[in-house]
Amino acid sequence: MRATNLARGGAAAAALTLSAGLLTLASTSASAAPGCSVDYRVNQWDTGFTATVTLKNLGDPISSGWTLEWDFPGNQKITNGWSATYSQSGQHVSAKNPSWAASLPTGGSASIGFNASYSSANPAPTSFKLNGTTCGDGPTTTTSTSTSTSTSTSTTTSTTTTTTTTTTTDTNPGVHVANPYVGAKGYLNPDYVANVNNLADATGGALGTSMRKVAQNSTAVWMDRIGAITAGRGLTGHLDEALRQAAGGTPVVIQVVVYDLPNRDCAALASNGELKVSENGLARYKAEYIDPIAAILADPKYRSLRIVGIIEPDSLPNLVTNLSKPKCAEANSSGAYVQGIQYALNKLSAIPNVYNYVDIAHSGWLGWDSNMGPAVQLIANTIKGTTKGVNSVDGFVSNMANTSPTDEPNLPDPNLTVGSQQLRSATFYQWNPYFDEADFGTEMRNRFIAAGFPSGIGMLIDTSRNGWGGPNRPTAATGSTVDAYVNSGRVDRKLHRGNWCNQAGAGIGERPTAAPRPGFDAYVWIKPPGESDGIATKTDGPNEEGKQHDPMCDPAYRGDDQANGGNLTGAMPGAPHAGVWFPAGFTSLVQNAYPAL
Ligand code: BGC
Repeated sequence: MRATNLARGGAAAAALTLSAGLLTLASTSASAAPGCSVDYRVNQWDTGFTATVTLKNLGDPISSGWTLEWDFPGNQKITNGWSATYSQSGQHVSAKNPSWAASLPTGGSASIGFNASYSSANPAPTSFKLNGTTCGDGPTTTTSTSTSTSTSTSTTTSTTTTTTTTTTTDTNPGVHVANPYVGAKGYLNPDYVANVNNLADATGGALGTSMRKVAQNSTAVWMDRIGAITAGRGLTGHLDEALRQAAGGTPVVIQVVVYDLPNRDCAALASNGELKVSENGLARYKAEYIDPIAAILADPKYRSLRIVGIIEPDSLPNLVTNLSKPKCAEANSSGAYVQGIQYALNKLSAIPNVYNYVDIAHSGWLGWDSNMGPAVQLIANTIKGTTKGVNSVDGFVSNMANTSPTDEPNLPDPNLTVGSQQLRSATFYQWNPYFDEADFGTEMRNRFIAAGFPSGIGMLIDTSRNGWGGPNRPTAATGSTVDAYVNSGRVDRKLHRGNWCNQAGAGIGERPTAAPRPGFDAYVWIKPPGESDGIATKTDGPNEEGKQHDPMCDPAYRGDDQANGGNLTGAMPGAPHAGVWFPAGFTSLVQNAYPAL
């Protein structure tokens, strides 16, 4: 069955390549002048604006760099920009491609952006040049203005569209409620829904029906690289769709994962990213990644949305336990992780309808007292160093993309003695007294409150893959030794708690739920079930996003003492790169869901 699907996928992909080849030929032979077109979009307020400029190459392919030039008709002055290097002299601007994006095929587009100041008027440039050639008929331009009046005008000419959208506030985009999940419905990402429903259609039967139920649950949107802000649907596309889903009147909560720190995933390889500390990564993270995200989220158009910022999975926990890894040591000594997170929190907490939750890893990572104490201290101090201090966050999120269960129902007491030994001394727990996320999150919350955080902070648990149902789920613990008792009773069937990549046997967990227990704001699905954690087999070096093969994703690899006690990894075979849709992984998660779908 699966082989048939694969064969069909292969044939479809080949057909696509062929027709794309024909298209390229046709448009190459037809392309004399003009060489380019430009779409210039502006979101402005009294004294400043954010511009998104989309450039399309209509001429010959460009392989060794491009420069876009224009003149501002007014006194506009660029303050910072992203996805290009800007220089401005008087009214003249040139924007040069970033070093990693020097080519632009025929028909290819580049989207760049900047923030700028202006006074009195902000007329759009009337013409652009690409590598010295004037672009076609002049740009299409769109200007959205926030003012306190309530009129609306729209004028159209053959080449220029000016739309003035009016709202009733100046810059304040919305309110901040105590728990954003209560009384709201979760955003359904149409791209994810399509992946699930396509597989459900191809699978059919009872399993297909179960699969389709997954698509009714909200999953997070991952901004996992600078390009994700504009590529495909892009951040504005998701927010616009969220507004559409809110049309019935119930507020929509949309979760946006902020995940692009320099030296990302410093203790592993599977989710290494595009930015490096040694290559000016922190400055780029701020200017090219956080600034544009914050500018988009601050748009008054989105003020009715409840936007949850999920801040930098795994980053600060890696500084607690993995400083022996050079990339983590560098992220620590340079201050890149701490300062990057502080910058993100400063920008995002300034937007009233954004709710920030900072990552605290999971019970199987930080549960030991020797890890938990330093983790709380580092995370608390990082947050206290922001402009709003402890008020820059709404809470913390555990178990992101991990599989630690919410509850271990058969092992409720870590201090219970079996064969005169405490359960927590079992090989599986290694004296870590936190067996599940409910206990871990509760303790972390108490410790943050003791460290000065408001008592209103709420915890989130990523339950997207911590279900552990199916035929192997035990209903009781038995045995006269502590290991026999723990191994017969634990619902967490991992071979070792340090295993993390594409875990065989894991299932979808509790459905996203608001306020599921005291102190918890929600169960959430941050890792979209069915997206891979990392490629199973080494093929070549880093992909274009920086992701690599991590042996912990190879089912045949025995880890080491520190990683997983030298056990097999428990990873599923055949998985693609992190973040890529993995149908076999999704199928297994559905089959092992708990509660069942
Ligand atoms: C990957 C991201 C991806 C996310 C959600 C992470 O492991 O690195 O690229 O967006 O998972 O699937």
